[in-house]
Order: sequence, then C-alpha cells, then structure tokens
Amino acid sequence: MSITTKAYVVEEKGGPFVLKDVILDHLEPDEVLIEMKFTGLCHTDLLVQAGLMPIGSFPAVLGHEGCGVIRALGASVSNKSLALNDQVFLSFRTCTACAPCLAGQGGACTQSQALSFLRTRLDASKPSPISLGDGTPVHGQFFGQSSLARMAVVSERSVVKCDASLGFGDDELGPLAPMGCGYLTGAGTVVNVLKPRRDSSMVILGVGAVGIAALLGARALGVTNIVVVDIVAAKLELAGQLGAKYVVNTLREEDGDLGAAVRRYFPAGADFIIDTTGVGRVLQAALGALGVGGTFALVGAMPPDTELRVNALDILTGCKKIIGVIEAWSDPQQIVPLLVQWYKEGKFPIDRIVKIYPATELDRALEDLKAGKVIKPVLSWDSL
Ligand SMILES: [Zn+2]
Ligand SMILES: [Zn+2]
Repeated sequence: MSITTKAYVVEEKGGPFVLKDVILDHLEPDEVLIEMKFTGLCHTDLLVQAGLMPIGSFPAVLGHEGCGVIRALGASVSNKSLALNDQVFLSFRTCTACAPCLAGQGGACTQSQALSFLRTRLDASKPSPISLGDGTPVHGQFFGQSSLARMAVVSERSVVKCDASLGFGDDELGPLAPMGCGYLTGAGTVVNVLKPRRDSSMVILGVGAVGIAALLGARALGVTNIVVVDIVAAKLELAGQLGAKYVVNTLREEDGDLGAAVRRYFPAGADFIIDTTGVGRVLQAALGALGVGGTFALVGAMPPDTELRVNALDILTGCKKIIGVIEAWSDPQQIVPLLVQWYKEGKFPIDRIVKIYPATELDRALEDLKAGKVIKPVLSWDSL
C-alpha cells in the first residue's frame, strides 16, 4: 500500500526546500513507517542542499534529526522491542559489521558515507521509498530517514526507542528531536571519546547546538573548568548560564590572542579542546591553548581545504594529540537514551537552545539560524 504525504523536496543542487506531495512505497521487511512529530535542522542539511557534500541524487528529501511515532513495522524488523505508537528518535544508519560498529563506535562506521549520504535503501537493488506523483524517483533515506517529511519510510537501524516510562507526551519531544545528530555529536564526543575527569580543563570552540551539547555533556559529568569561545556576546551569555565557568569573545581586543586568553584561566593550557566551528584560523589560534598531553578534537564540519599547520617538534615535546571525531564515534542506541535520561533529570537542559517552528515555516527557521537568532531550529509537523 502506498501513502501520499508532504515532504520538503530539494529538486536540484542549490535548489530551495519545497513542501510537496510525495508518494511513499510499501515497507521493506527491515523498515519502519514513522509519523514525524518534529525534525531539527542541521548545517549538514544545508551543506548537502548547496551541493557541498555529495548525496546519491536529486531530487532529494533531506532531514536527519527526526523524531516521531511508529505507525507500521516491516515484517521482519529485528528489534523486537519496537511496537506501534512507540515514540522514537531517528539517527544515522550503520553497517553493524565493520570494526568500529562491532566495538560499539558506530559513529566511526567505515560505511557511513554510503549508508547516510549515497544510498537510499539498505538493499541497493531496491528503488528509493519516495517518489513524486508523476513517478519521478526522489532520493530518500538520507541518514536512513529523510525526516523533513510528515511521514517517512525509515531504516530500522536509524530507529532509537524513547523509553516510555519517562512519560513524555508526543508534543514534548520537540527539544529532543536533534538527539540523533547534533546533541549526540557534541555530548557524545565528551562522554565517549574524551572521557574527562571532573578536574579536567576544557575549551569549547563555537556556541552552536554541538558546542552547547558538549558543554552540557561535560557539566553532566561534573566537569567545571570550562572555557567557551565564540564571537557573539548573547551566545556567550547563554553558555555562561548553562555552566561555562569562563567565556572568551575573540572579537574583544583583550581576547584577540586565543591561546593567551585561555591561558589566563588555564596557565598550563587545556586538557581538552573541542572545535565545533570548522574555521581554520580558529583552529590554528586554539592550538596554542592546548596543554602538554592535551587532546584537540575536531568535530565541526569543515571545508575540504581547511588547513591546520602543526609543528612536529611541538607535538613531540608537548605530547599533543589531534583527533577528528565523526558522530562522536558513538552508538546511537547507547548514547541517545543516556542523554534523554539526563534531560528528564534536568542535567541536560538542551531545550534552552531550541525554538520550534510550524513545519510550513522552514524558510523563516533557516533565516533565523543564519542570522544567529536561534541556535537550534526544530520544525513541528503537527500543523500539517
Ligand atoms: Zn560499520
Ligand atoms: Zn547533523
């Protein structure tokens, strides 16, 4: 049985998001039909829309921070805990068989580009589950989900169940929609990769959703020595309210030398630096703030020509480690429930960065995001 629903379709590279009727195919045995409640907007959607990151084909339905309710289950879904009407978060899809996947680090899956960007269905011989009314195929299951849609046929591997005992109403899920990407990336990098001690010193570059999630993740672990760096005073004020002990605004003259500014607070340099900006000159400047034995985690999406010049002697004498972390090297099935639990307990107040928009107002949400008026815009599908 096919279903007609509404989805944001990007017709071609660089084209706008246009809300259209689309047709959904029947479920394959390992797929789940989701009625979307909320979808977060992430910069990766915009990079793909602009043609700066490749996907299988256009037209395409993007969106990879969905959450909603199960409306149908494929005939042989392997996760037997999934049932109709379950609230679920949608995340990226992994191969489940490579070394990182087997080690519980699915974010580092060696097949992630194929499974999140290039392919639609897991079984590549099957057509995309989405088409236009005239039969034109539309690239679907972006990140296993293509959740900029009212209804979606998603890969079961993208589905993370929300613990029903937490008692969230469907309308309360909005702030949590980005669990599977933005929040997982920021908080998961701290919790699963850096694993700071309570007395560790940490610098977070950039106050976006990923930076704030990293801050809240570190605070939830009891870390207090945290410097947050940005160029927007209002965002730094929010970071201060959410637990940053110190803030550095590199546009202010006295903070112009980032290394020196951080060393005012951490004279020996930081144990950990997390970059969420992907801006080369920020990375370069921040390197001077990393202490002996410190780790610099590159988390932000960055243009392919971004340079970071490292002096070999500096590495040798300073024992500094620079790592690139994709999707926090985390298994969504492990980290998402932990963050949701922390949110419920008030230890991860991520709702402070979210603004909910009716699904019809995607353009306004993106304008506000670009203008820095909102950190994490989330669309609500209830209005459709
Ligand atoms: Zn894998
Ligand atoms: Zn994302």
